[in-house]
Amino acid sequence: MKIAILSRDASLYSTRRLKEAGEQRGHSVSVIDYLRCYMDITSHSPRVIYQGKVLNDLDAIIPRIGATHTFYGTATVRQFEIMGVFTANESQAISRSRDKLRCLQILSRQGIGLPVTGFAHSTKDIEGLIDIVGGAPLVIKLLEGTQGIGVVLAETPQAAKSVIEAFRGLDANILVQEFIKEAKGADLRCFVVGGKVIAAMKRQGAPGEFRSNVHRGGSVHKVKLTPEERSTAVRAAKAMGLRVAGVDILRSNHGPVIMEVNSSPGLEGIEKATEIDIAGKIIEYIERSAMPGKNRDAIKY
Ligand code: ADP
Repeated sequence: MKIAILSRDASLYSTRRLKEAGEQRGHSVSVIDYLRCYMDITSHSPRVIYQGKVLNDLDAIIPRIGATHTFYGTATVRQFEIMGVFTANESQAISRSRDKLRCLQILSRQGIGLPVTGFAHSTKDIEGLIDIVGGAPLVIKLLEGTQGIGVVLAETPQAAKSVIEAFRGLDANILVQEFIKEAKGADLRCFVVGGKVIAAMKRQGAPGEFRSNVHRGGSVHKVKLTPEERSTAVRAAKAMGLRVAGVDILRSNHGPVIMEVNSSPGLEGIEKATEIDIAGKIIEYIERSAMPGKNRDAIKY
């Protein structure tokens, strides 16, 4: 098959591993900078052009769209979908998962475990909001944050009130969430491919840190999931419509709760922690699912 990885940087670990795994399995794999793709969206034969060359013979794409380029990245993925190219994740599912609030609302509708979470516009409603999540301590999150930046633990109602007022004063959108103390600064990253958890790791925050993000000094270990955690991860990926997903779960007193569902999960930490060939499993999934020349236009309105 002819496979393209849509990635801004061919030297990134995940991009390199996917290319290597595809080539090992006999495919022709190219890395394409999606910001340099331009497209003909009006013609009867829709096209994507890259470095002056029409990309008309691809069988599958693997989108690795950075959080800062969701708009252009998903437009490119959508164009490939219109052309009948199989995608490891559909454009609509990528956009859906990038919006934290929308993501939580969709998961909640499916009855999937979540920390109790509130959202409001006006600072006049702060007290009600704090009430919804059962009072302090609580977690306040910037909707636009990634890598743990903009995630704050407020220990008292007074602290919560001032942080919420400060964020809202800057016109930032925030979520207020029940603090899952019993998670003890750890979360589970479950890697889901084609409706199955293929690998899982536990991330433990640095001492004294409630956030488990590796970028904040957290460490990673292999972990065995319970059947309930496994099914929560699979259901979350399915609810978001993601074929490849990194589902983050906290172990709470009321069962597994979802933090986030990621559409371009990194391979480095989890391949190293689990010694599982995740890139190979993604390529295998594409082999099973793509139907060269026969994929239908998958755009949903
Ligand atoms: P980001 O997308 O910026 O990584 P997250 O919402 O995933 O933000 O939060 C970062 C980390 O903070 C999580 O991985 C988790 O360890 C911790 N955390 C976030 N929300 C809560 C919460 N409600 N209770 C306990 N810990 C939390």
